[in-house]
Amino acid sequence: MVEERRNKFCSNCGAEIDKNAEICPKCGVRVKIITDIFEEGIIEKAGVGKRFVSYLIDAIILGIVGFVLSLTSVMNVIISAAYFTYLFGRGQTLGMMAMKIKLTRTDGTYPIGYTRGLLRYVGMMISALVIGIGYLWIVIDKDNQGWHDKIADTYVVPA
Ligand SMILES: [Zn+2]
Repeated sequence: MVEERRNKFCSNCGAEIDKNAEICPKCGVRVKIITDIFEEGIIEKAGVGKRFVSYLIDAIILGIVGFVLSLTSVMNVIISAAYFTYLFGRGQTLGMMAMKIKLTRTDGTYPIGYTRGLLRYVGMMISALVIGIGYLWIVIDKDNQGWHDKIADTYVVPA
């Protein structure tokens, strides 16, 4: 709802009028009640161009924030790929060391090597992608192989 305002100056004689006055103190004309603040020139409308540019600035700022955030998630993928490739390849992740388990080839070869380590990491992504069914396979499979174990031809055995 637009607040009712009155002209600051009398439209008839130009005398200054108190904002609460209903009648001009000088000429006695009834003071016009303003209901459209833009039409009466009390407030200017912001230009459409300025509004558009301000929106562009906001979009650019959020775009930069989003880009930086996506870089951190790319970094996260790179770090976890490096972590698993290296440690799978050497035979054990830190978690596996703590639990005294390790990775071997299905023919018993140990360690499995970095290429197969990377393959098993990629396999983990695939296992996770299909709503985690690839991991569920560890429980179902007779040799407790997840899809990533099938893909990389590995067993998880006591260290
Ligand atoms: Zn007047």
